[in-house]
Amino acid sequence: MKKIGYVSPGKYIQAAGIIEELPEYTRQYGKAAFILMDVFFRDTYSEKLKKEFLQKNAKCILAYFGGENNHKEVERCCFLVKQHGADYVIAFGGGKTLDCGKYIAHLMHLPFISIPTTASTDAPCSALTIVYDGADNERKVIRCAQNPSLVLVDSQIIADAPIRFLRAGIGDALATYFEARANERAGTDNFAGKNCVRTRLSMCIAQTCYETLRRYAVQAVRDAERHQVTQELEYIIEANILLSGLGFENTGCAGAHSVSSGIGAVEACKDILHGEKVAFGTLCQVYLECLGGGLLRELFRFCYELKLPVTLEDLGITEDKEQAAERIAEASFDKFWDSEPMEISVPNIREAILTVDRLGNETKKKVDEKK
Ligand SMILES: [Zn+2]
Repeated sequence: MKKIGYVSPGKYIQAAGIIEELPEYTRQYGKAAFILMDVFFRDTYSEKLKKEFLQKNAKCILAYFGGENNHKEVERCCFLVKQHGADYVIAFGGGKTLDCGKYIAHLMHLPFISIPTTASTDAPCSALTIVYDGADNERKVIRCAQNPSLVLVDSQIIADAPIRFLRAGIGDALATYFEARANERAGTDNFAGKNCVRTRLSMCIAQTCYETLRRYAVQAVRDAERHQVTQELEYIIEANILLSGLGFENTGCAGAHSVSSGIGAVEACKDILHGEKVAFGTLCQVYLECLGGGLLRELFRFCYELKLPVTLEDLGITEDKEQAAERIAEASFDKFWDSEPMEISVPNIREAILTVDRLGNETKKKVDEKK
């Protein structure tokens, strides 16, 4: 039996400087916090956080993320959590750090607090985590029992992060509405649970995500380049983290994330960020779905203006484009193409990738001529 299903974090708070109030927000989860932090923030936040917790009569145990969410790292952290009797887990950092903290909390049956330091992926709000499990580090997507109890977003930290992360987050968020629409038409399940389909609310979230990006993304990126937290930037942080996060988990992935996954199999693209691959994938999906030349043109211009990849060269592929397109198409094929409302084959995907590359080059030419 099909059910409608919806999941979300327990609470979402976003403001510039909110990190100062962290112990206030986490008090209800217990006296001792285990904080997994990106090494990058060691000098700026370690002592500060310890002091803040002490002032509130609580304690925090700090550990620095080893770089991969694998068996070794998870075991090391679970040991520390047990040793210090932590009541809850906080992860403070990028997508991988959040994924690791989420998994540790899941294994230890503890509440999880997510503090993203970039607005670049859908990791902060979801219950899904990518783990490199076992002795052979096999990549697995695991559904944790709970979404984060709290997502705390300090907009100033996001505004101070390298701008490429914000742009990539916009790329990841751009796919949300188109993938939601594909899943809705195909009638496939979302990630809320077995046999669950979209609530009407989830479709509204996906649509609002897209509208927010179209209206505010360009200005928000300009503001973030100057490290200024403006209303436009707040809207885009919300779109990248909350709307895109709720959107993807409650509506499902489709062509855009399939292509992104395929791009991940090409060595030349190894430095391309997740959201950058997804932006290119969105162009391929919209082309394949024949949603109209006007929309496609708009999307090309939008991506180009935001410095998101619109050609294979932007993805780092400079030679053997046909072969690379074939490789991407093949590697994408077992992902989410079932969520598309039409039949898709490897040659279709390959053709879409090469057409997007050609249209991307044409867009660049046209836009640059007008400058
Ligand atoms: Zn994504």
